Amino acid sequence: MVNPYHSLYLHVPFCQNICDYCNLYSVVNNENSTRTSYLGLINSQLKDASNSLVNLQSIFVGGGTPSQLTIPEMKYFLKSVNDHVTLRGDYEFSVECNPSSITDDKLKLLRDSGVNRLSFGAQSTTRKTRSVLGRRTSKSQLDQALNSALNIGFENINIDLIYGVPGQEIEDWQYDLETALSYNLPHYSAYSLILEEDTVLAEKFSSVDDELAVDMYDLTAEMLSTKDLRRYEISNYSKPGKHCKHNYDIWKGKSYLGIGPAATSYDGEKRWSQIRDLEKWIAGHAPEIDEIPAKDRAGEVISFGFRTVDGWQKTELENICGLNTLTEFSDIFQDLIKSELIYEDNNSLKPTEQGLLFADSVAEAFIFI
Ligand code: SF4
Repeated sequence: MVNPYHSLYLHVPFCQNICDYCNLYSVVNNENSTRTSYLGLINSQLKDASNSLVNLQSIFVGGGTPSQLTIPEMKYFLKSVNDHVTLRGDYEFSVECNPSSITDDKLKLLRDSGVNRLSFGAQSTTRKTRSVLGRRTSKSQLDQALNSALNIGFENINIDLIYGVPGQEIEDWQYDLETALSYNLPHYSAYSLILEEDTVLAEKFSSVDDELAVDMYDLTAEMLSTKDLRRYEISNYSKPGKHCKHNYDIWKGKSYLGIGPAATSYDGEKRWSQIRDLEKWIAGHAPEIDEIPAKDRAGEVISFGFRTVDGWQKTELENICGLNTLTEFSDIFQDLIKSELIYEDNNSLKPTEQGLLFADSVAEAFIFI
């Protein structure tokens, strides 16, 4: 049997509280019975899919807040993964952590269960910005979590940062970057704030300062490059060889299975999403299948790939969703080249600086409906 999945995503939907800017699916639920049912279903869905979860390149445990699981819950969760999933030799196994809920014992358990990459939600090192974001984690908790993770033997660590926050000045962002760089990590994610619908922040503010956000985006690349950190995707920077394999493969259209409420999956043809409701997911609500013609799917995959600095090798474009998109979409590629959103070299098509900054314009060129 051909292995349908390249990687696995697991969604842990529990948070201590809901941050004011966040629209990821999560709940504040500490009821034992719900959490036990959630963990049981994760285990049984992994078991059911185990024949397809062989020799995977990566596992990513995101949320929500995976580190919010208690030690016994985390033990059960990781045992379920290790019982039903096998990984390649050069695998990547990432877990998202909140500095306020990770402990040394949890870090040791993660390490001993094969986790080899951690991603910490820091968002900002300044109290002013964290308070606008409704982020309760403190800078000292971040310092302590990172020190512990390094001491316990994790080397591959990311922190997430956010810029373009209302009231945040360029000097504040510069301070955030300087502080983040002082940790000397191999990976940083720096996201421009989006005021997402149905968030507390979107009720308080109607827009962000786009010009200031572009200045912050430029400053990020400038400051990170001094530490050998290269932008490899719009919001992601790494030292050589330390990019997030899991996310990179998803941007490049590789298949993945997502398990947990709100998790999405892609098998190379179809995309489907689990319901954004923990109780309904536990009750067995069927996923929503997003079936669209191969040409539309190929367009979607290609526009995602143009979020990466290296774009597409021409040979890769010869077979996307069963289509030779290099010829099928050649007019679109030529238009994007004329608009200076992408450029062509011998072997590849890559986004320009403008193409990265205006990724939405690149994506719109591939919407056919
Ligand atoms: S930002 Fe992270 S910790 Fe805050 S609500 Fe969203 S998932 Fe939970």
